[in-house]
Parts: sequence; structure tokens; C-alpha cells
Amino acid sequence: MPAARYRPGVTEILYETDAALAALDGQRVAVVGYGNQGRSWALNLRDSGIDVMACVRADETRATAEADGFEARDVEAAGEADVICLLIPDDVIPTLAIEPRADALVIVASGYTLAFGRLDPDCDAAMVAPRMLGPEVRRCYEEGVGFITAVGVHRDKTGTARARTLAVARAIGGLRQGALQLTPMQEAVLDLGVEQAFSPAMRRVSEAFVGVMLEEGIPIEAILTELVLSGEVERTYRLVRLEGGAAQTLHHSPTSQYGQLSRVGRYDHLDVAATMRELVADITSGRFADEWDAERDSGYARLEELRGKALAPEILAFEEDLRTKLGERAVRPSR
Ligand code: NDP
Repeated sequence: MPAARYRPGVTEILYETDAALAALDGQRVAVVGYGNQGRSWALNLRDSGIDVMACVRADETRATAEADGFEARDVEAAGEADVICLLIPDDVIPTLAIEPRADALVIVASGYTLAFGRLDPDCDAAMVAPRMLGPEVRRCYEEGVGFITAVGVHRDKTGTARARTLAVARAIGGLRQGALQLTPMQEAVLDLGVEQAFSPAMRRVSEAFVGVMLEEGIPIEAILTELVLSGEVERTYRLVRLEGGAAQTLHHSPTSQYGQLSRVGRYDHLDVAATMRELVADITSGRFADEWDAERDSGYARLEELRGKALAPEILAFEEDLRTKLGERAVRPSR
């Protein structure tokens, strides 16, 4: 593809020194939802000295929030807060009956709802999107290492949206390793792009490789060990993160280096990007968001069907059996 078609984005990287927790002085923060992200955000905000209330449905989740020492209120009560963090699934956010005050700030943990017009409150609105799984948001805060986030202000009506957003990002540990300033649309396209364009391509590549190795008479256990169970790929990616992709090359044997580097262009004739562009166009056009809304409104029938196939009992049983034979769970006590 000609280089001229690339439109490199420009981003500012923000750190803890760019934020002041004082922007939240005297402000009450409502954490709506107490799931993967919600619980971690609530605990991190409180430990950073912020006044937090948990707004949750009256079920066992509420009991968990109360057991953690939070004042638990109904979801609708979040409308009384100065800052409202909506930490519930993106497809559910538009169905909530929360009425924010005109001077409130509404924060979401993913750009999706703001990017596709599913949420448009008439007050300050912003995104603080951790690049980290929910429970790890808590663990990384406790360990003091924090995590990378994507932050972006969608609307600033009060003139305080940026300062308050960065204060929340800092309070949850999201500025410690640096935060990327992105628009909600940029964040959503990247996030959904990884899920819908990158992951299926990786899956296809893995399946093709497994098939070719099976044709060569390699046992499935050995193939899966090479790809997953040994942890070698995982640790190689760790080195890519810690040392850089180029520098970590030297950890591989000369045979490996020569084999990888001399064959690196052998798939160049495959136009993988063409299919990726079609998938990304579904995201940027809002077609995927419409499809996902329709799925929600029909009671998630297709999701159930797809999950049923992907999590078929025979697949789960095969994986379970394999993991007890090879890898960390297979370690037998020595005599
Ligand atoms: P979860 O599925 O873990 O959170 C579910 C929470 O939402 C629960 O407290 C649940 O309540 C509540 N909830 C669900 N439906 C309703 C409803 N109809 N009314 C009221 N409350 C409801 O979500 P996540 O934490 O995974 O995701 C939250 C946000 O964080 C999303 O925007 C997501 O994109 C973003 N995000 C998530 C990441 C992750 O690692 N999971 C990573 C980065 C961003 P109950 O328990 O009562 O059912």
C-alpha cells in the first residue's frame, strides 16, 4: 500500500504530574456498577482519598459493595453526584435512568457509547479507558505500578472537565505509566479493531498452522504446547514489551533468527488488510453498533448461539484435560 494512504495520528502522553487530585476536592464520585472495572475503580478512588459512593442494583453485587465498606445506593441516585463513572456494559449504558446535574462530569471506561452517540449527556463527558483487565486495575494500583490508560474529553461545559477527568485517571492509577490522549472514537475504533479485525485474523493464522502441523504428523499436544502451553510465546511477548521487538531478537538462536528474518516477507502477497478494512468500516460507520443494539434488543439470541459453539462441552473438556497433563497444573510433587 502506498505510504501516502497512512494518516499517522498524533497523541499527547500525560503523566501524574499533569493531574491534581485537588480538582475533586469537595466532589462526590458515584461509581455505577460493581463488576470488573467498577469494584477496582471504587477501591482505588477511595484509597486515593476520593469521596465515593457505589450505585448498584439491589442484588449480591450490592452486598459485595457494602461488605467492602461502601455506601451503596440505587443506580438512579448517581444523578446526585458531581462525577459519575459509568462502569457497566457498553450496551446497557444507554438504558440507564440516570439524570446527571448540569455541572456534573460523566465518565465512561470505553469510548464506545460516546463515539457512536449512544450516550450524550448535557453536561461534561469524558473517557478514562484502562488498557487493563478490571481486576488487574486494582492489583496494579496495590502494587504501585499502575497501568496505561486512554483519556479524552468529549464535552467540556464547565471548564473543569479536563482537570476532573485527569484527577479521576490519576486516582485510579491510570496516569502512573502514562496516558494516551485519544478521542472516544479513536479509542473505540482501536479497541473494536483489535477484537473484530485483528483477533479473528490471528485465530485464522493459528488454525492454519495447527492444520499444517497435523498434516506433518505432529501430535496436537505438541503443537498446542508450542503455541500456548509452554508459555514461551507469552514470555517472548513479555520481552517484546520490556526490551522492544528488535532488541529481543538476540535472545533467539541464530537458526531461529535466520529462519524468521529470511522468511519475513513470504506472506506479503496475501491482502489481509482488505478484509481488515471492511471490518473496520463496519465499526467506523456505526454499522456494528447498530447490529449490537439489535442483538441486545432481541435478547442476545445470536450471542448465545455463538457462545454455545465456541464453548462447546467437548472443547472445554479437551482443554481441561490438556492443561492437567502439560504446563503449570501438571507439576507433580517429586518424591
Ligand atoms: P461488568 O460486566 O464486569 O460489570 C457489570 C456491572 O454492571 C455489574 O455491577 C452489573 O450489576 C452492572 N449492570 C449490568 N447490567 C445492568 C443494568 N441493566 N442495570 C444496572 N446495572 C447493571 O463490566 P466491565 O467492568 O467489564 O465493563 C464496564 C466498562 O468498562 C465497559 O464500558 C467496558 O467497555 C469497560 N472496560 C472493561 C474492561 C475489562 O477488562 N472488563 C477493560 C477496559 C474497559 P449486577 O452485578 O447487579 O448484574
